[in-house]
Amino acid sequence: MKKRLIGLTIAECELYAEEIGEKKYRGRQLYKWIYAKKAASFAAMTDLAATVRDKLNETAELGHLQVAEIDGRSASGSVKYLFRLPDGRHIESVYIPDDSRKTLCISSQVGCALNCQFCATARLGLQRHLSVGEIVGQVLTIMQLGEEISNIVFMGMGEPFANYENVIRAAQLLSDDNGMAIGARRIVISTCGLVDKIIRYADEGHKFRLAISLNSPFQEQRVQLMPVSRKWDVDTLCEAVKYYAKKSRKVPTIEYVLIAGVNDSREHAAALKKIVRSMPCKVNLIPYNTTGALFARPSTQQIETFVRWLLPLKAGLSVRWSKGDDAAAACGQLAGKKQERME
Ligand code: SAH
Repeated sequence: MKKRLIGLTIAECELYAEEIGEKKYRGRQLYKWIYAKKAASFAAMTDLAATVRDKLNETAELGHLQVAEIDGRSASGSVKYLFRLPDGRHIESVYIPDDSRKTLCISSQVGCALNCQFCATARLGLQRHLSVGEIVGQVLTIMQLGEEISNIVFMGMGEPFANYENVIRAAQLLSDDNGMAIGARRIVISTCGLVDKIIRYADEGHKFRLAISLNSPFQEQRVQLMPVSRKWDVDTLCEAVKYYAKKSRKVPTIEYVLIAGVNDSREHAAALKKIVRSMPCKVNLIPYNTTGALFARPSTQQIETFVRWLLPLKAGLSVRWSKGDDAAAACGQLAGKKQERME
């Protein structure tokens, strides 16, 4: 089988060059071609001698992902990409451009083990982790199709912190100045609240931004919605977020998916307010994208009322407005449909 080069670090590219009998610096050239110049093929790598390119063609491939489906540009301009991985499984990425930034929402796993009740990806169960190349490959492949990408959010399928090493390595490649050079502060890793990994992430001192999906301020309810709360309750999670904020001196984002009649009451707003006032953080309200029969998005009026209940806050507050039928709607939907068709 040919070696896939997307996903290799600069040191690994150097090693690979040596493995095929070339000088180390050829590996650095290769790295530049892959990540900085986004070459589509070995043929495009014009400063490599033809003999080197031949060797590469024989032994390796770049490893762009295969696009299975593109879910057209919606009214808001977002585009959903479905990729078919070499083992036949599917993942998706969502491109969300607006005036100031061009964000790509990427996946970290095929499916997910965490079983959040409202989440479409949860229904797939965990199938496997994505490799570093498959994570970075989502970005490079979409860039190859001509899209400009300025920001990355790990909010697609999967729990990034359950695939911790690969996600961190991928984020390091994405932000490497010699390569893709997406600023570390333009990369957000979103977690459902794996406390051990939040602590580790804080201790390792990474520069990427962190977002935590809280979704309910009440432990009894959060356990129902997000079974991970059985292992680490709301208080323990909040302590970890405070530890992260203090240690990193960065402001984490608390994500809160608003679901009609579930977590959009005045009591919820008051309890959420108390939590977010107790720590340095920003708040991101995400109106629910309806994915099944069980839950629904609150009315626009109810969302606005919830915001009023929350204010005033010292913390920054944003609402991620998107239409329910938007291509950006709930990650996991498209791959889920694909899976149903295959079964
Ligand atoms: N596992 C990670 C990242 C993937 S989910 C996490 O939990 O943070 C990214 C965000 O989308 C999370 O805040 C999650 O709560 C939210 N989400 C999941 N399903 C959704 C849906 N149907 N509508 C709106 N947001 C959803």
